[in-house]
Amino acid sequence: MDRQWERMLRHCTLCPRMCGVNRLAGEKGFCGAGGETVKVARAALHFWEEPCISGERGSGTVFFSYCTLRCAFCQNREIRGGAAGAEITVERLAEIFLEQQGRGALNLNLVTPTHYLPQIVRALEIARGKGLALPVVYNTSGYERAEVLRMLEGYVDVWLPDFKYMSETLARDYSSAPGYRETALAAIEEMVRQAGEPVFDEDGIMQKGVIIRHLALPGQLADAEAAVQALFSRFGNRVYYSLMNQYTPPPFRLKWENLNRRLSPAEYDALIDYAVELGVENGFTQEEGTAEESFIPPFDLEGVLPGA
Ligand code: SF4
Repeated sequence: MDRQWERMLRHCTLCPRMCGVNRLAGEKGFCGAGGETVKVARAALHFWEEPCISGERGSGTVFFSYCTLRCAFCQNREIRGGAAGAEITVERLAEIFLEQQGRGALNLNLVTPTHYLPQIVRALEIARGKGLALPVVYNTSGYERAEVLRMLEGYVDVWLPDFKYMSETLARDYSSAPGYRETALAAIEEMVRQAGEPVFDEDGIMQKGVIIRHLALPGQLADAEAAVQALFSRFGNRVYYSLMNQYTPPPFRLKWENLNRRLSPAEYDALIDYAVELGVENGFTQEEGTAEESFIPPFDLEGVLPGA
């Protein structure tokens, strides 16, 4: 492992939490992830990303366990806290990357990778040495340090960040993520710098570029519009915008009543109209009925262990 990445694990500052723990000595920070190995919950083809990511053949998703956020409405609770997944070596991770290529995946889609970047970079180097040629998709909450993303130059082709909140209060209440807005905007700025203009292949699959996702939350239309406005004023049509209606209330009651229901079609239509009026041309929207549990894949270790 490269020295600079190893240093990050010895004094972990991979994400804005800046815990400073020595993960190689077994210490755990906010996310709970270990240091030597990597915990992965699923590695399989996935067909429910944006059409230019999933295409017809599917995206080669690798779902990492643990997370640097604590979203009250998280749909992946099983893996967020590390309850699901298996610890694997960096060498096995490299094999998984190659297996995704062997399955015909259109890209390698790293889902929630931030806390495992040193191991992922090493696995990418090993896999590339053995013929990995897929575009790499970085699928993130957006809560990233721009300085760390700079160290990824040359490793990522397509950036797929969320931009969740404009409001500091919402970021703290719903995701325990202080400073989310400024942090995520600076991170996306760095992603746009690295990716440049969007590039697609002859089948319309993105090879380079940035797609910013915003999950519209029930009762928070004003914040959603402010988010789209802030993004569009910075990045215009150099990036793609994915406005998502798939919010699903968790199976227990939250203290914020608005989060105990789904998004209404009227709220979603209003957000789309707002984006169109702003001048957003490069956008993805979701059909009604996307808020189904079936879109959450089973975290059953498929593709994780050798021969699985
Ligand atoms: S990656 Fe985990 S341990 Fe490292 S700073 Fe972030 S939350 Fe803390």
